[in-house]
Amino acid sequence: MSILIDKSMCVGCGKCMDVCPGNLIKRNSEGKAYICHPGDCWGCASCVKTCGMDAICLYLGPDMGGLGATLTVEIKGPIREWKVKDVKGQETTIRVDQRKSNQY
Ligand code: SF4
Ligand code: SF4
Repeated sequence: MSILIDKSMCVGCGKCMDVCPGNLIKRNSEGKAYICHPGDCWGCASCVKTCGMDAICLYLGPDMGGLGATLTVEIKGPIREWKVKDVKGQETTIRVDQRKSNQY
């Protein structure tokens, strides 16, 4: 599992770099974020949730959604909408209410 960063959407704010527990995200010479060791990413999704520009998605392996599927999250107050998009572009939304997270 790793992440994909859309450099055209990245504004170089550095928030993803601050939250990555593995210190895997760096800035390139243009000030845009990139992942330096994709194989070390364990898919915690902290960077995905933190990026306010929706520039980062998780790239899912064949065990989760099929090769080439991606995962993004939209934060609406206490609601997290996780969106899985498969290789054909079909999207599935998983809605999680953080206020009820202790009930899961
Ligand atoms: S949080 Fe998003 S916009 Fe900010 S540096 Fe990371 S990828 Fe770029
Ligand atoms: S998913 Fe987690 S481990 Fe992977 S790059 Fe993002 S913050 Fe780092």
